[in-house]
Amino acid sequence: MQDIRWNTFWVLLLVSFLSLVFWGFKSLEVALFFFISCIFVYLLSHVYWIYRLNKWLKNPNLSTIPNGSGIWEEIFAILYREYRKQKKSKSELTTTLGRFMTAAEAIPDGIIALNQNNEIEWCNKPSEKMLDIQLAKDINQPINYLLRETRFTEYLNDNKYDGTLKLISWRNSGRSFEILLVPFGVSQKLLICRDITQIEKNDSIKRDFIANVSHELKTPLTVIVGFLETLFDMKNEFNAKTLPYLQMMLEQSDRMKKLVEDLLQLSSIESNAAPAEKKEIDMTELFKKLKKDSEFLSKKSHKINMSINKNIALLGHEKEIYSAFLNLISNAIRYTKKGGNINAIWDIKDQKPFFEVQDSGIGIDEKLIPRLTERFFRIDADRSRNSGGTGLGLSIVKHICIRHQAQIEIYSQIGKGSQFKIIFPQERLSLKNK
Ligand code: ADP
Repeated sequence: MQDIRWNTFWVLLLVSFLSLVFWGFKSLEVALFFFISCIFVYLLSHVYWIYRLNKWLKNPNLSTIPNGSGIWEEIFAILYREYRKQKKSKSELTTTLGRFMTAAEAIPDGIIALNQNNEIEWCNKPSEKMLDIQLAKDINQPINYLLRETRFTEYLNDNKYDGTLKLISWRNSGRSFEILLVPFGVSQKLLICRDITQIEKNDSIKRDFIANVSHELKTPLTVIVGFLETLFDMKNEFNAKTLPYLQMMLEQSDRMKKLVEDLLQLSSIESNAAPAEKKEIDMTELFKKLKKDSEFLSKKSHKINMSINKNIALLGHEKEIYSAFLNLISNAIRYTKKGGNINAIWDIKDQKPFFEVQDSGIGIDEKLIPRLTERFFRIDADRSRNSGGTGLGLSIVKHICIRHQAQIEIYSQIGKGSQFKIIFPQERLSLKNK
């Protein structure tokens, strides 16, 4: 590789030598003239190549790069190589980006990239169709200006990213969507939107089927239980051998009746997607009733203690709240040995009212806790059945909580008892004697 410093040095040396020769053979004037002319020509050639370089840089193109001469030949060769390399990686990057865009367009889910201000940076075609937006028109628009739904704005600003949001009947299209926010980059988000209309329809068909079957079973079962009870009242007229069968029939039909009632309650709560009403509940009265019913269920064989903060009331659906609270107490009674302790607490923490049931019962394996609210999930099916359980209690509690925007927290350890806590949002709190 040539070095411009050596190149200049050799040129100067040669010109100086030739000038000295001219000085010796001719005169000083001729020598000086020769020296200055050579330097001038040398500089002029560099100025010329700088001009060509400048011209080429204004419109760089591989085919028009000058060849150069002397040191400039090498400079242009290096430029050519680097420019070719850059062009190649640019074209690779464009191909990869193009492939990514094509793949993103092929995904049936809607994908929207949002910047730190929740403005649309990019979105694919399915998202345009689902959420009625147009990238060309809506780029850089805040997403919550286009999806005007309070629940969506809350979900967006929550920055929790641990759940999905269901949007039903968006812009009267009658379709349902599930929205998931995923953080990426420094503070950008990816909004993924899935059309769940068909899944929702199937769920609704299943729910309706269960509700209809339960409804149809309810009347004949009530009649059967009624007649069995009448027969049982006439037990003196039966011989000792028949009586246990009668008793078993009565127990089993009672179980079926309870199951049908729980199924009906579950499908009625489930099919009601709207948030529960916000009517002030008289908690003192509710707890009086709870105490009476829980003592009846326990047959006074547990120490049941109820502690209630009378300054706080709940805004909700009284019947549903009563059912959820009684379900938790009833579980505590059924899964705690005789003589055990049960505490039911109504209080407030961090501006949020909560209901908590603590028991000193058999406890639950920590691994199974996330499954407890599934329909018909029972750790010990025989124990549940024998204690009058249907496997639907916690599922009902979960749906009542959803309707009240409440959260369930469960802490338990085998042999050390359990704690079930329902935490209500602040907007369902009503403070008394403020
Ligand atoms: P079930 O009618 O069987 O009690 P639930 O839905 O109310 O149905 O509860 C589901 C399962 O969770 C129960 O079968 C039981 O195994 C477990 N469970 C619920 N509450 C308690 C509790 N307080 N202590 C121990 N296990 C419990």
